[in-house]
Amino acid sequence: MFDSLVSTADAHPESPFRLIKPQNNRPVVLPPNTTEPAFQAALEDLRGEIGAEWVKVNDIDLVDGDYHAVPLSHDSYHILEQDDLVPSAVCWPENTEGVSRVVKWANKHSVPIWPISIGRNLGYGGSAPRVRGSVIVDLGRRMNRVLDVSEKNATCLIEPGVQYLSLYEHLQKTGLGDRLWIDVPDLPGGSVMGNALDRGVGYTPHGGIRPFMATFPKEEDLATAVDALRPLMLQKVIGNVPCLRLGLQDATMYHKKTEFPLRERGLVDRKKSQKIIDNLGTGAWVFYAALYGPDEITQPKFDLIKKSLSVVPGAKFYERKDVSPESYLHDYAKFTAGIPTWRELDRMEYIPNASHLFFAPISAIDGEDAVRQAKMCRERMEEYGFDYLGTFFIGHREMHHVISFMYDKTDLDMKRRALACIRALIDDAAMIGVGEYRTHLALQDQVAGTYNWNDNAVMRLNEKLKDAMDPNGILQPGRSGIWPKVYRGQGWELRGEEKVSDPKKREMDVL
Ligand SMILES: Cc1cc2nc3c(=O)[nH]c(=O)nc-3n(C[C@H](O)[C@H](O)[C@H](O)COP(=O)(O)OP(=O)(O)OC[C@H]3O[C@@H](n4cnc5c(N)ncnc54)[C@H](O)[C@@H]3O)c2cc1C
Repeated sequence: MFDSLVSTADAHPESPFRLIKPQNNRPVVLPPNTTEPAFQAALEDLRGEIGAEWVKVNDIDLVDGDYHAVPLSHDSYHILEQDDLVPSAVCWPENTEGVSRVVKWANKHSVPIWPISIGRNLGYGGSAPRVRGSVIVDLGRRMNRVLDVSEKNATCLIEPGVQYLSLYEHLQKTGLGDRLWIDVPDLPGGSVMGNALDRGVGYTPHGGIRPFMATFPKEEDLATAVDALRPLMLQKVIGNVPCLRLGLQDATMYHKKTEFPLRERGLVDRKKSQKIIDNLGTGAWVFYAALYGPDEITQPKFDLIKKSLSVVPGAKFYERKDVSPESYLHDYAKFTAGIPTWRELDRMEYIPNASHLFFAPISAIDGEDAVRQAKMCRERMEEYGFDYLGTFFIGHREMHHVISFMYDKTDLDMKRRALACIRALIDDAAMIGVGEYRTHLALQDQVAGTYNWNDNAVMRLNEKLKDAMDPNGILQPGRSGIWPKVYRGQGWELRGEEKVSDPKKREMDVL
């Protein structure tokens, strides 16, 4: 195990990394504008506030681990240098009183702090802070209780460290699981709170079920399929958050990249690969959805959906009884019924040392809009040497278009290309009036800069609020591109050309 600088879910028996014990021989990255003695004195003070064993200096070697052993020492899916977004220390308060002590301590010593619940925000920065040398406040490790579940109101009161998996297990243990479901996302190891605070998405409408899948044979079917889905969503015929996924993206769960016919620069040859994708039964696009309620209600709905989507020539429909035991549809059935699964982790086999970085623009539920975005992303990604792997998560009024960049994190050139490509895509999207719903720490300044209507009215308001509520600028400086006044105009914003995030380090590197 990584000493204790590993997330709450450490020691998972499936993780080969749990037995690794990194050495403590890396120099600590100090918070900005402090000296080693001042920092040591501040940490001593913090130990006095919450107990010496609950404060650890981050001096361990950086080991990326895996989903089951997420380090708190850095962003394990690093897109900048591995040692760029690193904290100076991690602390674990026990309760709200302890959190209050930590915040007062940070104000007293002007040390930036970065709260996390579990630290599995993988693809968006993981557990890492935006400002190097911040102190991570891990709220999940000691505050991880389900405080209350109200069966009557179908609500729960939980502490930050409650994972989807642990909430599910709690419901099973207390016998409430047959009446109450949770809204699980693709993977259940994150916290309910962290996912909500970073605007994450699950799949259920909180509601009895019947999952199905529909496949569309050609990539050009996207527009017709989306237009046919719009009324079904607006009229709430489909009540959950269904997804429309590129066949190749679905195939990454079953195949390694090298199993596909490849063309120049290692891109998948789509035409030649279609046979493999078709053999999986996913078509060029595959649609997963679930219907909730008694058969008397769901059967006519399913008939209507089939009729509506059959406007796409060659559309096929499958229920669980129609597909092989390996089909993802069985996993989809589980998590649309609130049952967590680890199936998404199979994607990590697609390329060696796989990491994800997500580009997540919003689209209207409109065929033309969806095609425009898919084309824009595909062209840009291929220019930078990446396959377009997109999924549309369909809400009642909009779609989250989540595009997965799969990169080998040991390949520096690939990392740089991934980052540069997303930077280009953020600008491309802004040009057509499209913004992102969520983004990686390294890209938050750029995305915030695209919401610039009326001479940056939103940012001016955000900054005013930030300065009023956090006058010393200690709470997550730089989160969502919002910088407190003590950091503003000093080169902390990342716009693209910077090699490292810390302006002081940048100057030193140049010298
Ligand atoms: C293969 C894969 C599939 C994924 N699928 C999905 C998916 O289906 N849906 C989805 O939404 N995401 C998905 N993700 C993204 C991510 O893994 C999840 O959203 C995860 O649940 C977030 O991690 P966490 O709960 O541990 O949050 P954390 O890392 O603990 O927190 C995320 C951020 O929220 C803030 N925060 C957290 N807790 C607090 C707090 N108590 N107080 C103040 N601020 C706080 C912090 O800024 C923190 O950096 C996926 C990622 C991967 C790699």
